[in-house]
Amino acid sequence: MKLDVNVLRYLSKDDFRVLTAVEMGMRNHEIVPSELVDRIAGLKHGGTYKVLKNLLKYKLLHHDRSKYDGFRLTYLGYDFLAIKTLVNRGVFTGVGRQIGVGKESDIFEVAQEDGTILAMKLHRLGRTSFRAVKSKRDYLRHRSSFSWLYLSRLAALKEFAFMKALQEHDFPVPKAIDCNRHCVIMSLVQGYPMVQVKQLQNPETVFEKIIGIVVRLAEHGLIHCDFNEFNMMIDDEEKLTMIDFPQMVSVSHQNAQMYFDRDIECIFKFFRKRFNMTFQEDRDEADETEVEVDENSRPSFYDITKDENALDRELEASGFTKKEQNDLDKFIEGGLEKSEDSDEDEESDDEEQTAESNEEENLNEMKSLQLQEEEQKSSDGVEAEAELDDNEK
Ligand code: ADP
Ligand code: MG
Repeated sequence: MKLDVNVLRYLSKDDFRVLTAVEMGMRNHEIVPSELVDRIAGLKHGGTYKVLKNLLKYKLLHHDRSKYDGFRLTYLGYDFLAIKTLVNRGVFTGVGRQIGVGKESDIFEVAQEDGTILAMKLHRLGRTSFRAVKSKRDYLRHRSSFSWLYLSRLAALKEFAFMKALQEHDFPVPKAIDCNRHCVIMSLVQGYPMVQVKQLQNPETVFEKIIGIVVRLAEHGLIHCDFNEFNMMIDDEEKLTMIDFPQMVSVSHQNAQMYFDRDIECIFKFFRKRFNMTFQEDRDEADETEVEVDENSRPSFYDITKDENALDRELEASGFTKKEQNDLDKFIEGGLEKSEDSDEDEESDDEEQTAESNEEENLNEMKSLQLQEEEQKSSDGVEAEAELDDNEK
């Protein structure tokens, strides 16, 4: 998907007001009925409908009229809301080129007023592991707000909270600058993901440093769970920076041992293959060794779990609530445990089924809409006005 930020310039105050209204409607509706958008936005003389057309043209909304006439935000629409908020806050002034495409994110450069370049990560949960969400359908059924919007927002919130905490504990991570919706702003890391590196001056040192980071993480109560050559950046001085944390779990997690072993194994495997390194366990088989690491055995998880630096608990006390953590875990664990390559056909079947069951839900929702709205109007009114105004600055 393309992020054409030029469109930002053509969007008026009313455009953002209506876009925000759709976002607010999505808290309770997967597809937000047009009348509801109109009621939340509160534009005069049927203005909402004209604006909706404009937003559709720029693909910021998706129009769904299968069961009733309604709208939902596209990722692009959500991107624009986050970008607009962050620009209003003065975090950055312009969006530049795309520098990364992750499994479930897009990374862009953004520029601050003084020319400083930062990295903007837009989380896109559900892009590849949509099935993991669907497999939790029973769970979803009772949660209308559980959607890619919500999950991507949680992933960003978690990543931001972890980045800050890890930095405070001197882990080599990017500097966390700000966060809004599904978007995290962080310092731009110089260098490249390890996966692009063909040669190292000091492979043993780099290897030891990396293992050291994983071990120290566990000592602090955390397991990365996606620790591989894609999520470790290295510069020309062979300085390391760890990125990508939304899937981290606590050492108290029931599968902690497995995730830890898998992270460690991943590193061993990479250094063995890429830099021809051999380890104790390989020696019997190896005839000749180009590089040899003097290592007795691989770190063992239970030896290193200390209690005094429980970052996992510290994080629980941060802005990221236990409930949010649980919601995100339910999604991510589905993704962590499923096999890497998913079956496309099966996936689209699933998608259809979900669409059907969602529609059913939506119809029911429509029926109780009137009631709900009467209730909400009184309580949300003040909040809604404040939120809409916030985006109009
Ligand atoms: P995902 O969660 O989707 O895997 P990552 O956080 O791993 O996303 O980022 C994807 C890619 O974007 C990385 O491999 C890296 O090349 C680039 N990237 C991410 N964060 C930064 C950053 N702070 N500075 C520079 N490049 C980055
Ligand atoms: Mg990654």
